[in-house]
Amino acid sequence: MANVVKGNFPIDKFRDVETPFYYYDVDVLNRTLDLVKKESEANHAIVHYAIKANANPKVLKIIAQKGLGADCVSGNEVKAAIESGFPASRIVFAGVGKTDPEINLALDNDIFCFNAESIPELEVINELAGKKGKVANVELRVNPNVDAHTHHYITTGLNENKFGFNMDDLADVVKMFDSLKNLKLIGLHFHIGSQITDLSSYEHLCVKINELQDAMEAMGVRLANINIGGGLGINYEHPNHMPIADFEAYFRLFSKYLKLRPGQQLHCEPGRSIVAQCGSLITKVTYVKKGKEKQFAIVDAGMTDLIRPALYQAYHRIENISSDAEEEKYDVVGPICESSDVFDKDVLLNGTKRGDFLAIRSAGAYGEIMASGYNLRRLPKGYLSTEF
Ligand SMILES: *Cc1c(COP(=O)(O)O)cnc(C)c1O
Repeated sequence: MANVVKGNFPIDKFRDVETPFYYYDVDVLNRTLDLVKKESEANHAIVHYAIKANANPKVLKIIAQKGLGADCVSGNEVKAAIESGFPASRIVFAGVGKTDPEINLALDNDIFCFNAESIPELEVINELAGKKGKVANVELRVNPNVDAHTHHYITTGLNENKFGFNMDDLADVVKMFDSLKNLKLIGLHFHIGSQITDLSSYEHLCVKINELQDAMEAMGVRLANINIGGGLGINYEHPNHMPIADFEAYFRLFSKYLKLRPGQQLHCEPGRSIVAQCGSLITKVTYVKKGKEKQFAIVDAGMTDLIRPALYQAYHRIENISSDAEEEKYDVVGPICESSDVFDKDVLLNGTKRGDFLAIRSAGAYGEIMASGYNLRRLPKGYLSTEF
């Protein structure tokens, strides 16, 4: 039973660090980025990393240094992107509720484009750009009514969602640009959901984009950019065997099914698939409590540090990186006063005792960034493997 496959952790050096904390394996991150670069370049796509997945400044700096662009959904994300070294000319800004100060910040920094989601938003960007004597680049976020076959909280491309323009309204919206003198329509933007592992959803997206492009062309509209958003899934079950998402299949699919017009530039916005597998939440076992039929590993991390299991019933692999003892079943639970504060039930872990370190794997995306101070808890810190 001693040969459970686990991640690589400098556990001796963890004893001096306050738990829980996020640990980012820079080697995994770099290998992921290198594959993204190789495949995107081979398929002529520009990659904008979706900062909302993980905005740890140390992680952002590594991603920026590899030459990626950034996808932002708030003014502070635009600011963080610029401070971390992402070139403004590769920053896109999405979101249904961009405020005036956020729009002004983006205008002042001359970002690549706004991914606009409604008519009132177009009118406000036009007005604010006009006051600055600028012309803002705009892509229209289109809701293609494609089911991403993922958790309903992270499906965004269906008609009933709050995101984007409906396909049917698009012709009218495009005509509005004749009177919006401080906007330039430079493309269409799509984002159908997250943690997409059934790539046929992307095939359906391509079909919708192709139809839309035909309709646009019939109206005499030529668009310089097509942005297919993010959403590529990762393997939460097997982070050790499948540490890098299948970017090759992803880009190959778009090359095969998406009919780009001559000169048209492809853009994409992966978030999770860039950062999820490099990150683990490291937590210490506070107590092992034996129940009548169960035993609980009560750890010092809670849903405030990693909310995905409580919020989306998401699965994360958990490893006891301190123990080689015979495996037993545990419910791994946090200290927060909520019954949903459970990382997983009936988990097979090497025999676990107070003081052991557990690694909650694949936690680099939507982990540290979603942490909260509920119960007045300290926010978890994040460390790169190169800091140990
Ligand atoms: C969240 C988001 C992304 C990234 O999604 P992932 O599933 O993390 O790849 C990309 N684009 C937009 C507009 C988003 O809101």
